[in-house]
Amino acid sequence: MQTHFSLAQLADPHVEAANSILRKCVHCGFCTATCPTYVLLGDELDSPRGRIYLIKDMLENDRPATQEEVKHIDRCLSCLSCMSTCPSGVNYMHLVDTARVHIEKTYSRPAPDRMIREVLARVLPYPDRFRLALMGALAGKPFAGLFARVPALKPLAAMLRLAPGLPHGRAADDKGGVHPAHGTRRARVALLKGCAQPVLNPGIDEAAIRLLTRQGVDVVRVKGEGCCGALVHHMGREEEALNFARNNVDLWIKEMETEGLDAILVTTSGCGTPIKDYGYMLRLDPAYAEKAARVSAITRDISEFLPTLDLPKAETPRDMRVAYHSACSLQHGQKVKTPPMDLLRRVGFEVVEPFDPHLCCGSAGTYNMLQSEIAGQLRDRKVATLEALAPDVIAAGNIGCMTQIGSGTGIPIVHTVELLDWATGGPTPAALAGRAKAA
Ligand code: SF4
Ligand code: SF4
Repeated sequence: MQTHFSLAQLADPHVEAANSILRKCVHCGFCTATCPTYVLLGDELDSPRGRIYLIKDMLENDRPATQEEVKHIDRCLSCLSCMSTCPSGVNYMHLVDTARVHIEKTYSRPAPDRMIREVLARVLPYPDRFRLALMGALAGKPFAGLFARVPALKPLAAMLRLAPGLPHGRAADDKGGVHPAHGTRRARVALLKGCAQPVLNPGIDEAAIRLLTRQGVDVVRVKGEGCCGALVHHMGREEEALNFARNNVDLWIKEMETEGLDAILVTTSGCGTPIKDYGYMLRLDPAYAEKAARVSAITRDISEFLPTLDLPKAETPRDMRVAYHSACSLQHGQKVKTPPMDLLRRVGFEVVEPFDPHLCCGSAGTYNMLQSEIAGQLRDRKVATLEALAPDVIAAGNIGCMTQIGSGTGIPIVHTVELLDWATGGPTPAALAGRAKAA
């Protein structure tokens, strides 16, 4: 694609990076076929190629974002399916991130939208605030239908509907600590605590810790870790996202340089994608560029790390059919597609995949609250393809997808590591208690 940025514009490293990305796009449109919003809405402006044109025009003319541009860019899930399809290697993720920052800086959103975004940014990344909000949401749940009738309050209605129940309290290792390896130590890893996951489902990391320590891995919970920054990053709140990243980078580097870490493991793939990108996000900060790149280099989704541990192989198949939902942040953002399914098969589960596995379930961070109608359609579509497989259980590697899909089906949904832990000696996952066949 031809671009026409001036030399003065290109002196800005963000514009320069956007220019390089734009120039790689050959407008072939292959990406449109795999874009969930284009598949649903059929509007070129809701496709990756259409959005790329909008972003180019906005940045090239160095002007505030318009309402129309904001509408179509807000509708993008940042699912990155387009990046898996693109034959030219267009880094749409970095381009749309730049566009979101530009929108945040130049566009004045209507007051209700501003307010909802402010609440999400000030609550979700902080576990104690999120716990309180979930308790409030339980009280407000009966009013969700009422709020849904007022267009400006639809995000509030979506928040109330998604609230899964009473939040979980702080875990015993909330203030940090080490879960020692059983037997001879083979590795030492940090396991990201994150922000929303421990409030919604602490059982995921409990399963991960049991699984890892049984296989001879020391698991460190690093004191002071916070949100990875993804939630605010996707809202274009750049400085807040970078500050979350800096905090975590400092803590992990300290751990790497003292006791040592073989890897930083993540059980929420929506967090793994930005942490693997910290090196890029902080490349312009001389105090953090090198440290952030070192952190990104040893960050792994847990399903990438577990194959190095040779989990015990099942001698006979287990009588349990698992429908595996591949989170976008894992399959497109991190290009980790088959390892979770290989691991589940290794320990004896029958694993099946739904039709159109590349399509997003509509969760996408805060998307299911901010764009609840599109998110609802994507969820229903995903649930229908999963239910068509008649599985005993659905497995996924991202709490956002689990919450989103779980809000639309009666089939139990668990994290992949909960099944792996169960099959190798751990307890029955909470979602399967009382209804599971023996693992
Ligand atoms: S597939 Fe890649 S090169 Fe083709 S239009 Fe989409 S982004 Fe551009
Ligand atoms: S990130 Fe997803 S929703 Fe956004 S343009 Fe790409 S494929 Fe479409």
